[in-house]
Amino acid sequence: MTLDHIVVAGGSIAAVTAAGALRTAGFGGRVTLVSAERAAPYSRVPLSKGVMIGTETPESAALPALPDDVELMLGTAAAGLRVDRRELILAGGGVVDYDGLVIATGARARRLAAPGQRGELVVRTLADAEAIAERRADASSAVVVGGGFLGMEVASTLRHHGLEVTVVDMEPPLRRLLGPWLAEYVTKAALEHGVRLVISEGGVVLEGDPISGVRLGNGEFIAGDLVVSAVGDIPNAEWLEGSGLRLANGVVVDERCRVAPAITGAGDVVSREVSPGVFRRTPHWSNAVAQGRAAATSLLDDGASPYVPDHYFWTEQYGLDVKIAGEPPLVGEPDVLAGDLDGREVLLRWSNTDDATTAVVSINYRMPAARLRKMVA
Ligand SMILES: Cc1cc2nc3c(=O)[nH]c(=O)nc-3n(C[C@H](O)[C@H](O)[C@H](O)COP(=O)(O)OP(=O)(O)OC[C@H]3O[C@@H](n4cnc5c(N)ncnc54)[C@H](O)[C@@H]3O)c2cc1C
Repeated sequence: MTLDHIVVAGGSIAAVTAAGALRTAGFGGRVTLVSAERAAPYSRVPLSKGVMIGTETPESAALPALPDDVELMLGTAAAGLRVDRRELILAGGGVVDYDGLVIATGARARRLAAPGQRGELVVRTLADAEAIAERRADASSAVVVGGGFLGMEVASTLRHHGLEVTVVDMEPPLRRLLGPWLAEYVTKAALEHGVRLVISEGGVVLEGDPISGVRLGNGEFIAGDLVVSAVGDIPNAEWLEGSGLRLANGVVVDERCRVAPAITGAGDVVSREVSPGVFRRTPHWSNAVAQGRAAATSLLDDGASPYVPDHYFWTEQYGLDVKIAGEPPLVGEPDVLAGDLDGREVLLRWSNTDDATTAVVSINYRMPAARLRKMVA
């Protein structure tokens, strides 16, 4: 079947990359981007950093404009899919016909509040970051639930504004993601910046309505003017239930980002079967870009090269600009390749037992991402 009309469901980096890549690859038919958000496509990356601090404006988070001939349907959620008829069903009942479809509906923040309980803050959308920036003005304390990248970035930003900040997690912050050595290095900087870190093995319950703090597993109550949950994300894949597409921790794609004939997927909404029965998502910016490209090229050419996972990630917190090339968590201790560990401007290398480089990390050390990637085996 010839492709005259390709629809991209989603409105952020994976969707925008896919739509742009279709044009770059020479696709001359119609391209329509259907996004649930009313805002024009923007990057989430600065939301927990500059936008929340106020050093970056919401406008500066905008993604580069799409080619003029890409049709934008903003504020329009995809609500269902009839695969056999190649029809995307919209919330509200409309239908968009497609010849090819890219699924890039991303993820949303996981929440802890009970149904109807008010006041829980999360950081996923521009509106979320703006809500925190507004509430922050009158706040003197914050509890951040979740010590992953996002939670630790949010804590860093709020601390920068002078709030008393407590991060609560069930395990030591960042360890599951970064491995013990790097997690400890970053955590040390957090403590020096005056952030309080609390482990609550039994988790927490958000208390009050509106929420005024968290109750730990041991019964202790920690009050906060702001309570921010940063406890992971949920893929926006429910709209595909009943479509017949394979759903497991998101919509399942193969090594070419294919979901089904004439359907591909990219970004935080997709998972890949990494071992039998284990479906893993890679919810990072670089991966969304790489998959967005692959999703576009695979639609146009079924023989396109397989997608290569891009294990590149960065985070900014507590004065540390950390760039990681390699698949975390990082096991063992690194070698110092250049710079100064104590001076916090350093280039680090992790290796395996054969002395092959498994990861390279720069901390406040200027090196282009492409060079970091190249250094990894
Ligand atoms: C605050 C924050 C900071 C981050 N910082 C970093 C960082 O420093 N480094 C890094 O590598 N990664 C970072 N990330 C992760 C990175 O932003 C994500 O991996 C990336 O946004 C994924 O892009 P995506 O397009 O797949 O999904 P999303 O960004 O989730 O976008 C999905 C889009 O689809 C739309 N949508 C949802 N449902 C529907 C529907 N039914 N119909 C139509 N449209 C729909 C949504 O409205 C949204 O526009 C951060 C994430 C957050 C939230």
